[in-house]
Amino acid sequence: MGLSLIQDNVLQTRQLETSQEQRRVLSQLEMMLDEVHAAAVAAMPLADAPCESVLGALRRQAAVVPQVRSLLLARDGEVHCASLSGESGGDLGMFGGGQEALAFVAGSAVAPERPLLLYRWRQGSQQVIAVVDARHAWRAAIGRDVGDGAWRVAGMQLGNDGLARSPTRPDAAAIASSRYPIEIVADAPDAMPRPPWRSFHVGVLLVLLAGIPGGYLIHRLMPRRQGRHREYERAIRKGEFVPYYQPLVRAADMEWAGVEVLARWLHPNRGLLAPDSFMTGLERSRFILPATGYLMERAAHELAGMLPQLPVGFHVSFNITPAHLAGRWLPEQCQRFLSVFPQDRIILVLELTEREGVEADEDVHAVLEELRRMGVRIALDDFGVGHSNLSHLQDLRVDGLKIDRGFIARLGSPAGMTPILRTILDLAERMDLDVVAEGVETRAQADALIRHGVTLLQGYLFARPLAGQDLPSALSRTPLPPGAQHVDSTLKVNQLI
Ligand code: C2E
Ligand code: CA
Ligand code: CA
Repeated sequence: MGLSLIQDNVLQTRQLETSQEQRRVLSQLEMMLDEVHAAAVAAMPLADAPCESVLGALRRQAAVVPQVRSLLLARDGEVHCASLSGESGGDLGMFGGGQEALAFVAGSAVAPERPLLLYRWRQGSQQVIAVVDARHAWRAAIGRDVGDGAWRVAGMQLGNDGLARSPTRPDAAAIASSRYPIEIVADAPDAMPRPPWRSFHVGVLLVLLAGIPGGYLIHRLMPRRQGRHREYERAIRKGEFVPYYQPLVRAADMEWAGVEVLARWLHPNRGLLAPDSFMTGLERSRFILPATGYLMERAAHELAGMLPQLPVGFHVSFNITPAHLAGRWLPEQCQRFLSVFPQDRIILVLELTEREGVEADEDVHAVLEELRRMGVRIALDDFGVGHSNLSHLQDLRVDGLKIDRGFIARLGSPAGMTPILRTILDLAERMDLDVVAEGVETRAQADALIRHGVTLLQGYLFARPLAGQDLPSALSRTPLPPGAQHVDSTLKVNQLI
């Protein structure tokens, strides 16, 4: 009786640990697939061009995501460009219908023994296939080898002995991803429970939800979300997300010091959209990565064209979320951005918002460390609201913080400097952090902020967010014409209603 109770407890503990382990593995693999997906979406604009004209770009794209070994472009079911060899030809019969599909193959001509995972993204008659070294990806995502269990994809199984047909077995405790056609299945429970200290060694099986003939895969998304995702995908492919630039002013000399890049969606039916109407959805989807990548590339291109007008050490900031801090995607994008400019000509800043909270694990620290080595600066955005957390100032070793415009709006009224704002500014000074104040609309606000040691100012008092073509003329005038007291009153009304 006593023994069976202990065994029950042990079994329960093990089941709990097993499902936690499953979830951890699932989320690691989802993050890996997010990067693979981003690489495929970003390569889609190349799929329609002749191989020789896009091979260089395709190779660069393949190099951005370390998990991706190579990329293939296909049209009408035929591969017409392979990033490794530049060659064409090859059968794509392993994939079924649907926009997104995954499949295992035993190996390549160069390495027949290295199993590969293929990720296919399709747009009309065009396809991009991202080729991933399956074992390597697993090890990188999970931190250990496939182990005793196996990784199953559409009726195939990758285990210690390589790739084999998987036996049909019921996947008792499967946890399915809501974002990819994958499932994590723990090993079938033993007849006798293992001691709990061994229960972390559960073999984990990854099963890609198989469709019918040949194990083709269909991604089962909610129809509404699928519609939205199709919109995001189109917007990225057609370049509908465009960068707007809001200039920043240095408090020390009141000269232009940089710009914040703010996304706008040039929607074919709904016109120019501000981020409030789409950013939450975009950030929750995996399309935020290719969208940010596209914005960074386009901004680099536009700013390079006006470089003679930009002062040396001009700040360019982009908005990122914690999702950007997983894997090597962000450092690679920043490298690409910086490589467009002569060294030290531009200072790249990332404004990190914590809408959902940041989990500062080892991987996040490694990414931040790499960014710092590259000279990229990190600022905490919307400081003082939402999840922004004092401990992150120290934890993430940020270079600066950006005070949300909600605090600035209250400034300059008879109430003056609020205790919270005073405390934030005090803290920043003690920690030697740069401080940017956003939403500065009146001269009185600017004066109060300068008196209290703010480094940079941003707001309608100086300039609104501008399209690329309007930026040079805005930067050619002085930030604050003499006598400027405040912005026109319609803007104040905007803030109240
Ligand atoms: P944010 O990062 O806090 O950006 C500042 C927002 O305040 C911008 O709104 C800007 O237009 C607005 N603003 C600037 N000066 C003034 C002022 O003097 N008065 C008033 N009333 N507003 C001012 P926007 O462009 O609508 O962006 C809204 C938010 O969308 C941003 O807030 C940011 O969190 C997010 N966002 C924008 N672009 C991106 C992006 O590329 N990626 C991500 N992840 N988020 C973005
Ligand atoms: Ca921002
Ligand atoms: Ca803000």
